[in-house]
Amino acid sequence: MMVLSVSMYKTNRWKNIRGRILKKHDYLCVESKRYGKTEGAEMVHHIYPLEQYPELAYEDWNLIPLTNKVHNTFHDRNNDAVIGRGLEWQEKRRKEFERFYAKLPPSD
Ligand SMILES: [Zn+2]
Repeated sequence: MMVLSVSMYKTNRWKNIRGRILKKHDYLCVESKRYGKTEGAEMVHHIYPLEQYPELAYEDWNLIPLTNKVHNTFHDRNNDAVIGRGLEWQEKRRKEFERFYAKLPPSD
C-alpha cells in the first residue's frame, strides 16, 4: 500500500490535479479560510485517505489544499489515521462519497 501511494505522488496525473486543486482554491488553505485566516496552501490532502481509498485519489471533491501545520492536525502521526477536523471534512463530503460508490458497478 505504501509503495502504491508513494508512486502515485510521482505521476503526472497527480501533479496536474494537484496544480488544478491549488488553483481552484486560489492557492489558499481551505481550513484556515473557514476560520477567516488567509494562509498559503502547502500541500493537498486526501479527505478520504489514499491508503484506504486509492480509487478516490484523483476525485476533486476528495482533495483540499492545506498548510502543513493544519495538515498535521488532520492525522494521528503515529498511525496516519484521520482525526479531528479531518473527520469533519469526511462528514462534509459524505454525500459525494456515497454518490461515488453508488455509481460503481457491483464488483461481482
Ligand atoms: Zn492528509
